[in-house]
Amino acid sequence: MKPYLREKTSFGFTEVPKDTSFEAGYLVTKNSGWRSIRPVVCIDRCVGCMQCYLYCPDGVISIENKKAVIDYDFCKGCGICSKICRPGAVKMEAEK
Ligand code: SF4
Ligand code: SF4
Repeated sequence: MKPYLREKTSFGFTEVPKDTSFEAGYLVTKNSGWRSIRPVVCIDRCVGCMQCYLYCPDGVISIENKKAVIDYDFCKGCGICSKICRPGAVKMEAEK
């Protein structure tokens, strides 16, 4: 999220950047090396509600064709997307 959005007390949904943090230029170093579990999206269950996109602290989820897509180069495996997904479309799986 852009700094000016953090400083505002409220903002409209259309002001939220559409790109992931990496694409927007805020994450420049791949940080997934220490991840022990990873979120896996079940496409059939995903309804494209964007909750995971909004709650991911690293901004590494994008919505493509109304489905969540995770950038594994920058996902740290915190599991928030899995907790926030009401349809249960995100499962945490062990890294292989
Ligand atoms: S919260 Fe779940 S259902 Fe909503 S977009 Fe993300 S993965 Fe899909
Ligand atoms: S596990 Fe955490 S960092 Fe990775 S996509 Fe989900 S919320 Fe974002």
